Amino acid sequence: MIEHHGSTGRTGSLLALLSLLVATTPMPAQQRADPVRLEDEAVRRALEYLRINTTNPPGNEDQTMRFFARILADEGIPFDTASSAPGRGNIWARIKGGGEPALVLLHHMDVVPADPRYWDADPFSATEKSGVIYARGALDTKTLGVMELEAFLALRRMKVPLARDVIFMATADEETGGSFGARWVVEHHPEAFAGAKLLLNEGGIGTEAAGRKRFGIEVTQKVPLWLKLVSTGKPGHGSVPPVGSSVDRLVRTLERLRTHEFAPRIVPAVDTYFKGLARNAPPEWKDAYADIRRTAGDRNALLRLQLDHPDLAALTRNTCSITVLQGSDKINVIPPEADAQLDCRLLPDQDPATFVRELESVINDPGIKVERILGFTPAVSPTDNPLYQAIADVTRRHFPDANIVPAVSTGFTDSHFFRDRGVACYGFAPILIPEEDESGIHGNNERLSVENLRRGTTMLLEIVQIVAGKRPDR
Ligand SMILES: [Zn+2]
Repeated sequence: MIEHHGSTGRTGSLLALLSLLVATTPMPAQQRADPVRLEDEAVRRALEYLRINTTNPPGNEDQTMRFFARILADEGIPFDTASSAPGRGNIWARIKGGGEPALVLLHHMDVVPADPRYWDADPFSATEKSGVIYARGALDTKTLGVMELEAFLALRRMKVPLARDVIFMATADEETGGSFGARWVVEHHPEAFAGAKLLLNEGGIGTEAAGRKRFGIEVTQKVPLWLKLVSTGKPGHGSVPPVGSSVDRLVRTLERLRTHEFAPRIVPAVDTYFKGLARNAPPEWKDAYADIRRTAGDRNALLRLQLDHPDLAALTRNTCSITVLQGSDKINVIPPEADAQLDCRLLPDQDPATFVRELESVINDPGIKVERILGFTPAVSPTDNPLYQAIADVTRRHFPDANIVPAVSTGFTDSHFFRDRGVACYGFAPILIPEEDESGIHGNNERLSVENLRRGTTMLLEIVQIVAGKRPDR
């Protein structure tokens, strides 16, 4: 059960914070927010946003771009829009502040497909049942987008004096890699995030299991390296098997890869993450997490971790999953070419070229060509950063008994495009959900409580105010 925060209590704490800011800020123009109104507005807007179907492919983010454009226009905030392809909209807006590096509030507007046959309600109806909103995008990541929007609007309405620019940015196409979204904006519209050194994006959330609350603030990710293995051989008729066909050769290669174990290696960010997890881990895992180097060196312990927590085990080494396979498209034809695609995920400091050389030595067959489909450079964002600290402080204030840890994610988000350009990025949505609800991300019955949406809106505003609000001493 999610810890209950009565709306009076939260309103009180926000008002206290706001009046503190008002009291210490020599700017008489600043106005107080009406937190209840802001939260009401967040709920109303989230429902509207979630009902716009931005399943990617095809995305159709132009519709949600217009949704944000209308809101920003109504508020009198200038914004820019740009479509990377027909239907693929992106939008950003900036509130000017002082000379400190700008803060970006980023989220993606597209969602993964949802099959209504496996849902209790239409995934795009945003049905509210017993205080819970069921919708594709309820966790990934439209609700974070609404919290960011409301915080952004509140800054402007309250005329908060800002030490830095604050940028709201909503992009297309995260779910298929960002080519029409964040990546395209970074390449074609660098002015959108000019001067930015801090960025808040999806990636970490709070989960609760057996009374243990844990918030992960994502500081880095495993790096994808997507590869294609191509095998060639003499084509022929299926009735006359040759000695080594393209398919035979590929299957032999894949068997070598399937049974190969990449050596465990604990990088500092992963070590810090596990030490953080150890603080309130279930008793049977406490010691194993506290010394993950030792655990990773023990075959049985590592196997146990893989069975119980495959997501955590994946952080201890480079991995490759064999996913796409292609051979002949006809049962009686031996094809001249067969190929397989590998979803490899590298540790955040792994040099990709070195990894490919290791892979080639495992394959040990010069006849297999290794082609690169996608890959990017790794980066870790530091925890001694005002944005990280503000996220941790606000979360601690709302959840004094929660364990807050700098997290490493096995998956990737749009953050890497910005980390590559020297922007410190943190993956965090201020929500606390039952651990089992995480399966809704890319799964069925994705949902978020109204309570979370309301509290998250207030928390996000508090975070942004701490990071961007002008203090008398600066
Ligand atoms: Zn997402």
